[in-house]
Amino acid sequence: MPYKDPDRRKEYLREYKDKYRARMRELNKQSYERHKKEILARRQVAKALQDVDTRHRKERAYSAIYRKKHRKELRKRARERYRTDMKCHLYYRNYHAKKKGSTIGPINIQALVERDSVCAICHKHIPARQRSIDHILPISKGGAHIQDNLRIVHIRCNLARNNRGAAQLRLFA
Ligand SMILES: [Zn+2]
Repeated sequence: MPYKDPDRRKEYLREYKDKYRARMRELNKQSYERHKKEILARRQVAKALQDVDTRHRKERAYSAIYRKKHRKELRKRARERYRTDMKCHLYYRNYHAKKKGSTIGPINIQALVERDSVCAICHKHIPARQRSIDHILPISKGGAHIQDNLRIVHIRCNLARNNRGAAQLRLFA
């Protein structure tokens, strides 16, 4: 750049542009023709990404509104699923165990359900809607979240057991 003074430099650049405008346009055009394929492809990708982004943002906004509007209904459905869908139930238990920093092993929920048709606490039959996963040695006592430490009990038995004092907990553990 021949001029250090910014005003003079600006003037120079303007003159330069005016002088070579046609030539620069021509060069740009040639370059575009040479790389046309790549440029168009890049543009397409950018557009696709933008579309995806916009769609996600719209969906997120909509689902937030939907959740707010149907909060009660959704909570009811979630509770129902927690009771009836053992996979869902296990998902929550996994989450809880992970949060408490317990050891987590592979768990076959189907095998557990087939093995424990009778509640391990009250020794009565467990209807599908009343199944709950229980840790034989509670996670709070350092028990692991692994297949061998699990059994199926009634929801009500599980709750009753959890509400008891530590002395009686040891009876079951
Ligand atoms: Zn029971």
